[in-house]
Amino acid sequence: MKLHEYQSKELLAKYGVPVPGGEVALNGEEAKAIAEKFGGKVVVKAQVLMGGRGKAGGVKLFDDAEAAGTFAGELIGKRLISIQNPDGMIVEKVLVAELIDIAQEFYVSVLLDRNIQKTIVMISAEGGVEIEEVAENHPDAIVKLAVDPKWGLSDYEIREAVIRANIPKPARNQMVSMIKKLVQAYEAADAEMIEINPCALTPDGKLLAADAKVSIDDNSLFRRPEYQSASGDSAEDPIESEANRRGIAYVRLGGEIGIMGNGAGLVMQSIDEIAAAGGKAANFLDVGGGAQADRVQSCMEVILMDPNIKGIFINIFGGITRVDQVALGVLEAFSKMNVTIPVVARIEGTAVEEGRKILAGSQIIPAETVQEAAAKIVELANAA
Ligand code: GDP
Ligand code: MN
Repeated sequence: MKLHEYQSKELLAKYGVPVPGGEVALNGEEAKAIAEKFGGKVVVKAQVLMGGRGKAGGVKLFDDAEAAGTFAGELIGKRLISIQNPDGMIVEKVLVAELIDIAQEFYVSVLLDRNIQKTIVMISAEGGVEIEEVAENHPDAIVKLAVDPKWGLSDYEIREAVIRANIPKPARNQMVSMIKKLVQAYEAADAEMIEINPCALTPDGKLLAADAKVSIDDNSLFRRPEYQSASGDSAEDPIESEANRRGIAYVRLGGEIGIMGNGAGLVMQSIDEIAAAGGKAANFLDVGGGAQADRVQSCMEVILMDPNIKGIFINIFGGITRVDQVALGVLEAFSKMNVTIPVVARIEGTAVEEGRKILAGSQIIPAETVQEAAAKIVELANAA
């Protein structure tokens, strides 16, 4: 799950990473009061889980508390749209942070490199809002350093990488120390990504994390009670948020065929077969093992929240899951919602005969094989 900037900075500060002071405000008055504490010299920053806030108009510098409060009041409730997030996100909170003078902006991040199967640190002296452009046009300006899973990083390795990245002398020691703390925080907090951009050097030579993005591995949330209540809210997609809250493994894929299957492998096969039949899956959804009728119903509701779907493909192989339970759940869900789009089901395995009886005479069209089912639902969806 992605953490907001203010949450990321709170987390990193616990590990000793220097961050500018600041507080969160929910409205203009609160923002003004916080700005006054900093003598009006603040930066007001939209707390939305998307990149490119600065360019989208979500970050503004002030030297006057009144103006900061007015801007915050206008920003809250507004939808911010950026290149990275064309659908945009509504601003609910702002961070009012102490304004720092910035002489130079660097980039530093910690993340997993799946190719080499190690945590890596990325460092660049060309930080700021254009890092994507740097990555594309001057990849040499970004230095990568792999963390040995057994031995971690030695100071000399970090220092060598910091020098290779052209971090200027006055910032080097602080950068080495910051990287050590970031790697510590990354491991201790079950993070999957930490990104500091900009990592700011002030004219008087202090290095601070002026922006911070931390993402926590969802699989660790069971031992992170502090984030559990908010976990649904952090997904960028409203349907994914709702699925999170219901504990359903759902990923929105943008196509027109809703998919429900049991087991990640079967769901992925369904997605592939839909593609092979010339369609595009609207989602990944795994109902999980041993699903009962009420869970199936809940999953169906989530699938149907996507306004773009033109058909539903149900692909169940009953093992621990009983196919008749799935059939009951689907019909129960459909009885409550007026489903007018075509639905094709390929069901097989435990209690399949009972399942087929339950579905007989319903609007659900049976299919024998996965390929046949995929071809049928794509054809029906296109015809509709
Ligand atoms: P992003 O656009 O979502 O990455 O938001 P950032 O927090 O990175 O802010 C965008 C830009 O605003 C930064 O690259 C800085 O140039 C500028 N900025 C942010 N905070 C400060 C600050 O405290 N002082 C100054 N001078 N500039 C800031
Ligand atoms: Mn940034």
